[in-house]
Amino acid sequence: MSRKRKILSVKNLDFSYNQNKVLDNISFSVEEGSFISILGPNGSGKSTLVNLISKVLRGYEGKIEVGGRDIEELDSKDIAKMVAVVPQYTNPGFSFTVAEMVMMGRHPYISRFGTEGKEDFDAVSGAMEKTEILPFSNRKFTELSGGEKQRVIMAQALAQDSSILLLDEPTSHLDINFQIEFMNLFLSLNKKENKTIIGIFHDVNLAIQNSKKIMLLKEGRIFNFGSGEDIINRESIKSVFGSDVFVGRNPVTKKLYVSPVFNPGVDRGISSQTANKYLRVHIIGGGGAASPVMNLLHSSGYTVSCGVINTLDTDLDTAQMLGIPYVTEAPFSPISFVSQNKNIEFIKSSDVIILPAVEFGSGNFSNLVSVKEAINSGKKVIVIDEKNIRERDHTGGKAEKLYRRIIEDGAIVVKSINQVLRHL
Ligand code: ADP
Ligand code: MG
Repeated sequence: MSRKRKILSVKNLDFSYNQNKVLDNISFSVEEGSFISILGPNGSGKSTLVNLISKVLRGYEGKIEVGGRDIEELDSKDIAKMVAVVPQYTNPGFSFTVAEMVMMGRHPYISRFGTEGKEDFDAVSGAMEKTEILPFSNRKFTELSGGEKQRVIMAQALAQDSSILLLDEPTSHLDINFQIEFMNLFLSLNKKENKTIIGIFHDVNLAIQNSKKIMLLKEGRIFNFGSGEDIINRESIKSVFGSDVFVGRNPVTKKLYVSPVFNPGVDRGISSQTANKYLRVHIIGGGGAASPVMNLLHSSGYTVSCGVINTLDTDLDTAQMLGIPYVTEAPFSPISFVSQNKNIEFIKSSDVIILPAVEFGSGNFSNLVSVKEAINSGKKVIVIDEKNIRERDHTGGKAEKLYRRIIEDGAIVVKSINQVLRHL
């Protein structure tokens, strides 16, 4: 068996902000060509770790080696050739065009007074093609939507042509089609170009289903580091995230799957469970937003359905696992009329329609149209307004407008999933 090269090695790493220790004795190593996810609750030190490895942050104790060399001995250009970072937030002070932003990724290759060469332009256009931003290469970065900006930042990192890609929630601003598409881009960079991917991902299920190894971080320490099969279970998730989950396996894909378990807080008893069965609830799916709602209502005994969900969506895994009927659409395809009509059939035969905090892009906008039709026809609609619609609208305002109409026309608005049951 050939031993793979260690591309990253972290030894006894400690880091504090002022007196506040946020990383405590972190040691691990990564083989070249690995795909690793770092999981942990907010504040557990994930971003800090990523920023130390890329030398964005300084002043640690311990040792960090990239490609066998201590990063203290490498200047920023050397590091940038080996490690590219896609940060969670970026806000350039000046108004650059998209193409100029991506060209900045070539900075480590261009000498101080040199100009860009053919290789640089090729790397830039290749990166823009992979992230599908070529059509707006001349637009100003500051005028783009959140999701578009994130794709530009991703292209900048790809143009850097490094062997390690460090991703800090790179897809959290993207609608579900793009989240899945980018995960596929990372997988293909990993497989075809042998890039080492180390990522903090927004969607825990996308992360565990696609990574070879997972690092669980808790309060600045490594809780566990290993394959998903070995380390993801009900107990470890409870210890690290403090939440009750169901860890199962999708019967179709056989992949490991984590889904929140809800404790409605009251013992509803068998008789009310039986009564619940007669109430039909249809949930709008998308991006995993419907999964906790499906779990809650299914475990409370309601007759639940879900749609329209893309084939690769974690909401589909949940529906399949719970045996909930659903309407699905091919991956990356916009919702077709056939699927939309099927969804409307479900809506018509339901008593209540629930709209979770789904991200809306042009591909799933018609789900919102179906909810509007539901409210027009006098159906009870519950909107779970957990996240500002403006941040979830990737249609340039169209989705927000329709969403507000749905609320004006009488939808019940709740702020969290826990409040749904009392309105049924
Ligand atoms: P995560 O990415 O896992 O959410 P972070 O690495 O961002 O965690 O943060 C780890 C801890 O460090 C948190 O308690 C956070 O409040 C603190 N922290 C992060 N950035 C700073 C900073 N610039 N100054 C002081 N404390 C910070
Ligand atoms: Mg972070």
